[in-house]
Amino acid sequence: MSRETAIANAQAMVDDGRLLDVLSRRVAWPTESQEPARGPELGRFLTEEMVPALEAMGFESQILPNPKPNPKMAEGPFLVAKRVEGEGLPTVLIYGHGDTVRGMEGRWREGLEPWKIVVEGDRWYGRGTADNKGQYTINLEALEQVRLLRGGELGFNVTLLLEMGEEVGSPGLQEFCDLHRELLKADVLIASDGPRLAASQPTLFLGSRGAFNMTLRVNARERGYHSGNWGGVIRNPATIVANAIACLVDGRGRLQVEGLNPPPMSNSVRAAIHDLPVGGGETDPEIDVDWGTEGLNPPERLFGWNTLEVLAMGAGDPAAPVNAVPPNATATIQLRYVAGTDAANILPAVRKRLDECGFQGVELMAARGEAAPATRLDPDTPWVRWAVASMSKTIGAAPAVLPNIGGSLPNHCFADVLGLPTLWVPHSYAACAQHAPDEHMLGSIAREAMGIMAGLFWDLGEAGVPAHKA
Ligand SMILES: [Zn+2]
Repeated sequence: MSRETAIANAQAMVDDGRLLDVLSRRVAWPTESQEPARGPELGRFLTEEMVPALEAMGFESQILPNPKPNPKMAEGPFLVAKRVEGEGLPTVLIYGHGDTVRGMEGRWREGLEPWKIVVEGDRWYGRGTADNKGQYTINLEALEQVRLLRGGELGFNVTLLLEMGEEVGSPGLQEFCDLHRELLKADVLIASDGPRLAASQPTLFLGSRGAFNMTLRVNARERGYHSGNWGGVIRNPATIVANAIACLVDGRGRLQVEGLNPPPMSNSVRAAIHDLPVGGGETDPEIDVDWGTEGLNPPERLFGWNTLEVLAMGAGDPAAPVNAVPPNATATIQLRYVAGTDAANILPAVRKRLDECGFQGVELMAARGEAAPATRLDPDTPWVRWAVASMSKTIGAAPAVLPNIGGSLPNHCFADVLGLPTLWVPHSYAACAQHAPDEHMLGSIAREAMGIMAGLFWDLGEAGVPAHKA
């Protein structure tokens, strides 16, 4: 009985096809949360697929309702499954989501389809293979191999939380965590979603950037007026919106709004991200080194700083321009921001800057009701050091550590509401086509991930685990 055997047993599940069998069964469920008609399917996936599988692993499951149901969506209930071995033992919370984006039938490459896994070389095609059924299934199966090798006892407690609405913005997740703090009480979150920094680079990330979307709008008149008859004597909404944007972000992507920058990066955050590679994957764009905040290198700009992006803009009809001053113009902009940014001040700071620049006539509003807040765990904390040591022991080199990913996740539910240190170990990569046709997982990553997770779960049952709340 050894750590090496646990890792070998977990990886054997990839080699002999058992992991693929489990995943094929789960991918066959069309759990599209973006399709309201799929509501019943989401609940059945939990009761008919997940509950029996978890029972065989010694979990007791409960299906609990969404405290904030949205009748227009099919976000489904929550599954909480617990394996309790002892009061004084550490407890890990594992999170995953069983819903997927739409299958997009008919748009997959010849020979591929969403609800049936097709293996081609290293690629396991199917909706949910990467996002997120494949990732949480790896974690549960690696956990089970550790339990079997240890004679049926892990040496720690496990709570699994599966949601069925992640792809529609996790409605009710925050309220659910708030309502069930006691049920979800744990010492640490270990979860898997999103991509590695690169396919061959095992990665540990600790939080995510927040996103705040805003709309700028100038609505000057009921209709357009001929530019020859009226141009030069009536104000042009498109010109005004373009210049309003320019006072917020300059032509080289540099933020121009004082209150929107985060506090200075800590030494531990800068040290963690300074040498990380950005891009370089097969479908990645070329990095523009002269774009963005000055004094930072690309990984610092991406993982350690805030950026204002123009997402969409419109005036007139670009496909069929006419000789007229357009009646109105609009733009949607977004601030991606790191932890430490005063999120409540984003809208007021933008308003203040617009007014200072003379754009009192530009309307500004938050484009989404709820902004996803930023989270970050300091890389220099005991749980992070513990996870880095475990992963390093398994793979023979240190993983890349990201204090936060560039994108967004509902991690504030775990970091802020439940107050947990959050360790994310992604098992996918940027070119996995997660929200498009041809989504796939890489068999090579799945195999390495089974080893990494078996190592982490093995070590969680050993001495040397960071202090936990008894
Ligand atoms: Zn997704």
